[in-house]
Amino acid sequence: MSAPVLVINSGSSSIKYQLVDGDTPEASTSGLIERIGQSESILTHRHAGEEHERREHLADHAAGLEAVVAAFEEHGTPLGGTGLIAVAHRVVHGGERFVQPVVVDDEVERAVEDLSDLAPLHNPANLEGIRVARKLFPRLPQVAVFDTAFHATIPERAHLYAVPTAWREEHGVRRYGFHGTSHAYVSRKAAELLGRSPKAVNVIVAHLGNGASVTAVERGRSIDTSMGLTPLEGLVMGTRSGDIDPAIVFHMHRRTGASFDDLDAALNKESGMLALAGAIDMRAVERAARGGDRAAQTALEIYCYRIRKYIGSYIAALGGADAIAFTAGIGENSAEVRAGALGSLVALGVHLDEAANAAGGPVISTPDSPITVMVIPTNEEGEIARQTANLLRS
Ligand code: ADP
Repeated sequence: MSAPVLVINSGSSSIKYQLVDGDTPEASTSGLIERIGQSESILTHRHAGEEHERREHLADHAAGLEAVVAAFEEHGTPLGGTGLIAVAHRVVHGGERFVQPVVVDDEVERAVEDLSDLAPLHNPANLEGIRVARKLFPRLPQVAVFDTAFHATIPERAHLYAVPTAWREEHGVRRYGFHGTSHAYVSRKAAELLGRSPKAVNVIVAHLGNGASVTAVERGRSIDTSMGLTPLEGLVMGTRSGDIDPAIVFHMHRRTGASFDDLDAALNKESGMLALAGAIDMRAVERAARGGDRAAQTALEIYCYRIRKYIGSYIAALGGADAIAFTAGIGENSAEVRAGALGSLVALGVHLDEAANAAGGPVISTPDSPITVMVIPTNEEGEIARQTANLLRS
């Protein structure tokens, strides 16, 4: 490895990690700790084709990261011997300030903390990972890479909401967008697959995981995306509603007396496919739909219809697209969702090749399709490592 980077994605009770070569960018080791703080935490460490599981109580993120260091010592090369150039952290919200990766110091740490009210579920957990890694690896640069950064190029016509000026100026209310590292990586790969420079093509990326968003990428720059101030807006997701009439919130508050925190939780954690189909996992929804479950069938239709509307509107926003790329757990694996999302877009130049779609791509449109449709596995950790290596060399 010429530029090994330890990439950390720290959640409220989990830490995902990968040792990635920022140059290639390929991972040699990866792992995940779940249930931090519970009586039994689970560490799964993957190295050289083998998976090692360890169950023990890990009280907090500091204990978790120490367990990660121990796992590297036990299996393969200890981290100290890898020539690590940095620890890179995925940070969900960078606000208007962080539009590039940045080396973390005390001031950056405070700024990320200040952004927590825009991403209360994510930034505090990301920050915890940064804090414990700074203590554990005091001599290594810690780099923060922001999910919002790729969307900093979205013009005002797409990032401003038509709301009172003070909301924007004093409270940061605007569209930020998320999944930026994934949209950046996949749109670049899509251009590569077309054999053209990213600067010469327009690509629509549909990142469909538990969280999901669509982005319009014009000549390498994000010009619109479906998530907004928070990751709640846009597509129907595992447990999030996506777009709704905002007045539904006031209506439900007035009718039921539910607090705004309750309504926030209802829209973020109890809506989406969970509410429509009774399951979060798309595989379970598809199984139920095939078995004749009407609610699951309707849920799938709604899920695909919302994606189709976004793709259609982004073809218009871009004035024409060269490629549409599907990525993340559902985008990479569900031929049914891809077909459902593209079904009626023939008139807009999308000709799906059913056999290629069933086989999973990478190209799933017919050779004469004006818009090339692709399946491209995302690599968020690889992109974070690549950006980190580039930053440290600049
Ligand atoms: P996250 O947003 O948590 O990173 P992922 O990108 O891993 O999520 O995507 C998780 C989603 O991918 C789940 O809803 C899961 O059901 C779905 N998924 C994974 N494999 C398949 C498959 N073969 N068919 C349909 N959906 C799948």
